[in-house]
Amino acid sequence: AKWVYAFGDGKAEGKSQMRDLLGGKGANLAEMCNLGLPVPPGFTITTEVCTYYYDHGKSYPPELKDQIAAALAQIGTLTGRKFGDATNPLLVSVRSGARASMPGMMDTVLNLGLNDETVLALAKEAEDERFAFDSYRRFITMYSNVVLGVEHHAFEEALEQYKEAKGFELDTELSAADWKTLIQTYKKIVRDEYGSDFPQVADDQLWGAISAVFNSWMIPRAKKYRELNNIPESWGTAVNVQAMVFGNMGDTSATGVAFTRNPSTGEKALYGEFLINAQGEDVVAGIRTPQNITEKARIEAESDKPSMEKAMPESFAELTRIYGILESHYRDMQDMEFTIEKGKLWMLQTRNGKRTAKAALRIAVDLAGEGLISREEAIGRVEPGALDQLLHPTIDPKADRKVIASGLPASPGAATGEIVFSSEDAEAHRKAERKCILVRIETSPEDIHGMHAAEGILTTRGGMTSHAAVVARGMGKPCVSGVGSIRIDYKAQTLTVGGNTLKAGDKITIDGSTGQVIQGEVKMLEPELSGDFATLMEWADAFRGMKVRANADTPTDARTARNFGAEGIGLCRTEHMFFEGDRIIAVREMILADDAEGRRAALAKILPYQRQDFLELFTIMSGLPVTIRLLDPPLHEFLPHTDAEVAEVVKATGVSEEKIRHRMRELSEHNPMLGFRGCRLAIAFPEIAEMQARAIFEAAVQAAADTGSPVTPEVMVPLVFTRAEFDIVKARIDAMAKAVAEEKGATLDYQVGTMIELPRAALKAGEIAETAEFFSFGTNDLTQTALGISRDDAATFLGPYTQKGILPADPFITIDQEGVGELVRIGVERGRKTRPNIKLGICGEHGGDPASIGFCQEVGLDYVSCSPYRVPIARLAAAQAAL
Ligand code: PEP
Ligand code: MG
Repeated sequence: AKWVYAFGDGKAEGKSQMRDLLGGKGANLAEMCNLGLPVPPGFTITTEVCTYYYDHGKSYPPELKDQIAAALAQIGTLTGRKFGDATNPLLVSVRSGARASMPGMMDTVLNLGLNDETVLALAKEAEDERFAFDSYRRFITMYSNVVLGVEHHAFEEALEQYKEAKGFELDTELSAADWKTLIQTYKKIVRDEYGSDFPQVADDQLWGAISAVFNSWMIPRAKKYRELNNIPESWGTAVNVQAMVFGNMGDTSATGVAFTRNPSTGEKALYGEFLINAQGEDVVAGIRTPQNITEKARIEAESDKPSMEKAMPESFAELTRIYGILESHYRDMQDMEFTIEKGKLWMLQTRNGKRTAKAALRIAVDLAGEGLISREEAIGRVEPGALDQLLHPTIDPKADRKVIASGLPASPGAATGEIVFSSEDAEAHRKAERKCILVRIETSPEDIHGMHAAEGILTTRGGMTSHAAVVARGMGKPCVSGVGSIRIDYKAQTLTVGGNTLKAGDKITIDGSTGQVIQGEVKMLEPELSGDFATLMEWADAFRGMKVRANADTPTDARTARNFGAEGIGLCRTEHMFFEGDRIIAVREMILADDAEGRRAALAKILPYQRQDFLELFTIMSGLPVTIRLLDPPLHEFLPHTDAEVAEVVKATGVSEEKIRHRMRELSEHNPMLGFRGCRLAIAFPEIAEMQARAIFEAAVQAAADTGSPVTPEVMVPLVFTRAEFDIVKARIDAMAKAVAEEKGATLDYQVGTMIELPRAALKAGEIAETAEFFSFGTNDLTQTALGISRDDAATFLGPYTQKGILPADPFITIDQEGVGELVRIGVERGRKTRPNIKLGICGEHGGDPASIGFCQEVGLDYVSCSPYRVPIARLAAAQAAL
């Protein structure tokens, strides 16, 4: 079998389509070679080797050794060197590369092949002894850390002690002789900590590094990342071995990362950072502050360090040329890593760059405008869930803000929260439902969970490509990085800036779009929905088949929904209106009444409120469909809870406290979700449904008269499981419609339909559709009842279900397609069979979940209905589902 794929000198055995086998990095290195770009020669060990490795007790396929030896020999031929040779050594880098990029999760070893002998050859060749020994000590620390498991700080302490003893401040002050001395110390550290000598044989070093990459596939932080990003363990990682090129061979050498477009804003311009006389890890580690690539970016950043455009014009021109080739080849924004060795530019990596939602929108719209991609592709390029970032508030530019520091605008959006200094504290805050900002000197992959838990991230070190910045952008969280003026004291749990000290728990606001750090809370603004957002949404709407409605209970919800492009209301939960203002008192009076008479009297007080509510909804929705659901929740939800509330009801109703308490006991249920709720209320207390129907119809007549456009209300009955229930309630509604039409002398156009939210309703959909004019799948209750999992109590035990893979996702977030989905399919089929033109929608939480929206398209629903803030997400997801 073939386990190794070589590349170099303008050809490659692999190509970009072989991502599954070669990993993202390997596939793209091969592709860049095929495009004739300057890539240091190398080879990729396939992901199948990783799988083999774990299937065979961490051993390798027998053919692998010879295949690697042959590939190494080929690199040797291309570079005129030999791996392990004392006089003309080939040095290599070893990097991991999974199918999906896993930033910072896997490890890299550079300068592999150096030992006590080859370091001398390197010194001679580079005519720079200092460079050679610096490289060797870097190799020893990196290799010992990644492969041998020796802690980094052991070396760092030795270096600090040495510098102190010599009176040095910077690493650059160390001479070749200094590094030689330190290398002896480093080797001793390895001997002490690891238990044997640092490996001197190049082959041993290589196999050690390869195994380390494969082993790192299973380390906890890699597992955690996969879990958070739904990456299957079975994919495995590839290993890339490549001839070294050095960015630290003096002032004509450099290393950097560049995006073909700005990953924060999407602006079309080469964007990135580089460091002269440095090796790759120096840029990412954020130890030295990198320089800008373009002159324009340098001026904007007010940096006094020269840009690459000025300092290395030829390499800059070459990079610009390559950027054009890569963008038109991949037809997407690229994130490139490069190294310049003595004036010659080498490409080390390219991949589709991670970007903010704002940048994703702009890039998709621009690429379509440039003719590189079609509109359909542009729609597919933006992940619907990512729009969430754009739909959230930003800081009001007119608000007073006490800016205490500034850093890099690493990931846009603004966030306020209490200061926490560790990921553990961030998680604790999240559990206690308190918002926090994670404040760290820098972040590492161990902080992923804390970054998830926090509203935003602030670091005092590191650039736009630091771990914090890259990961925050991926998560869509605001991040300000490299705020050098802030001093953090983890022990004291304080941060200090310009004489001002803040403690853990104090509130700060960060603005990831400007880089500002602000003391306290600041006024926020609603998001801007014009420009690229509007353009892409317009394109999406043109491709979409399903309609998108909103679940809106109040005029505010309805207006937000309209702003976001909702095409009607798919669910108005009328119970939410019962809590508005002081009407809850009348509602309580109604519930506590002894008989229908008493209830009617109280309902008469509620009627004008309800009518006004519906009038406003109809007016805001001006002619768009509005589905209003009759009262659904168990009545006891409206009862007073505290003693003060009870006293209030006593005062307002004149009913004795004893009687009220008695009625409360009467209404209490063991299983309220399966109890006296839904249409059962309308069946036992028809006057409630009658009041609501009257309010709906009177409002509809009024709205039609006010606006001149006809209103067709859709009245929806909840929690039906048989046609007989529905028919009883429908008869009351129809009678009320007739009465109102007569009273007002108007004609009324309306529909009566039902929720399908119980398994029996889905099964009996054929019969229910005989009289129901529309169905709305209530997948919250349908999930709860199909799985027998309480939607309110699931959190405590559902975690292990997804972790252990019993369920692929939380079924209350993403629809369980196999089970609940089957019920929906049955409901759709049987409903349509009886009534071919029946209107079908969904109004459970799943209506705003992109994966579930795909399912809705598949089963042929007419519309989805979701919360107002998710309407744009649903519009885009529905378009993608239709493509
Ligand atoms: C549902 O059950 O899916 C639904 C939309 O109704 P509610 O969430 O109000 O129970
Ligand atoms: Mg329900």
